[in-house]
Amino acid sequence: MNRKRERRMSFRVFVTRLIPEKGINLLKKFCQTVEINPYDRSLTYDELLHYVKDSDAILTMLSDVIDARLINEAVKLKVIANYAVGYDNIDIKTATERGIFVTNTPGVLTDSTADMAWALLFSITRRVVEGDKYTRAGKFVGWEPMLLLGGDLVGKTLGIVGAGRVGTAMAMRSMGWLMKVLYTSRSSRNTVLEESLCARRVSLDTLLRESDFVSIHVPLTGETRHMIGAKELSLMKKTAYLINTARGAVIDEEALVNALKNKQIAGAGLDVYEEEPKLKPGMKELDNVVLAPHLGSATIETRTRMAVIAAENIISVLKGERPKNCVNI
Ligand code: NAP
Repeated sequence: MNRKRERRMSFRVFVTRLIPEKGINLLKKFCQTVEINPYDRSLTYDELLHYVKDSDAILTMLSDVIDARLINEAVKLKVIANYAVGYDNIDIKTATERGIFVTNTPGVLTDSTADMAWALLFSITRRVVEGDKYTRAGKFVGWEPMLLLGGDLVGKTLGIVGAGRVGTAMAMRSMGWLMKVLYTSRSSRNTVLEESLCARRVSLDTLLRESDFVSIHVPLTGETRHMIGAKELSLMKKTAYLINTARGAVIDEEALVNALKNKQIAGAGLDVYEEEPKLKPGMKELDNVVLAPHLGSATIETRTRMAVIAAENIISVLKGERPKNCVNI
């Protein structure tokens, strides 16, 4: 028991929300002080500042704003381990200037996020949420020939905006519905998609014009903010659906509300929002949108794997090693 204690490093780790215990236990095995946000809610900025100040490492959520002030006030900080694959909540430039490692949890959430994108696609196309509300309201009085008609999937065209890990997994799942696949990518061709699905790499405009389902999978960056705005929505088919499991601000949400209101597109399935957790005015009144509360990676298995990876990244840095999932240094 004592020997075990001696081996623990005298570092302070702060975890901004309770995560699966496998990750917490791993941190406790190696670090002397592991403190967890005591509340069942996100911390306010000032609370975060208070807890981060004396920490050597922080395990953060995508909802934590880790800006320059916070990074600069945390004088002992060596690593920010984000519990997500995206890291648009962190001021990477300041962290890098201060020599602080920033890490993420890529790969382990790919399948669950692609599954969620499909869940949204099915829900909106086959009007599952509307049907559920209808049934619960006691309106279902028997089979009807024209009740809540949706759209078919087989043989339709799926457009993948950003064919990285999640985008590729999303596209691969379309095999079951014999769909044509189009994709965009900035740098290289996606040979997996081209060889296994005969997918075509096209420009964003072509993808928007030709797809029956458009699914967004790019990270949020200066370049991708509002990548889908009024102009892009106007290129989509009137019968097309837009799915977003990436980051809310990739879409100009006000323009999307207008497009949905005016039936300029058939519908949307959203897991993420521009000003999360707020919704743009008019959004929740619409029937042709399914709204999920950022559940992309929300399975027990995935969240457990994310907890372990984030903990391992912290432990590596505190041991003086390079973390496996470093995104900045
Ligand atoms: P990834 O493997 O890095 O894929 C991102 C893809 O986007 C890359 O193929 C990249 O390819 C492309 N891309 C980047 N900038 C682009 C641009 N300006 N125009 C066109 N394509 C661009 O990341 P991932 O693991 O698939 O995750 C994607 C995003 O999904 C994450 O950043 C995260 O924000 C989001 N996500 C959300 C959830 C959730 O809970 N809803 C869960 C997981 C991930 P090129 O560089 O070749 O263009």
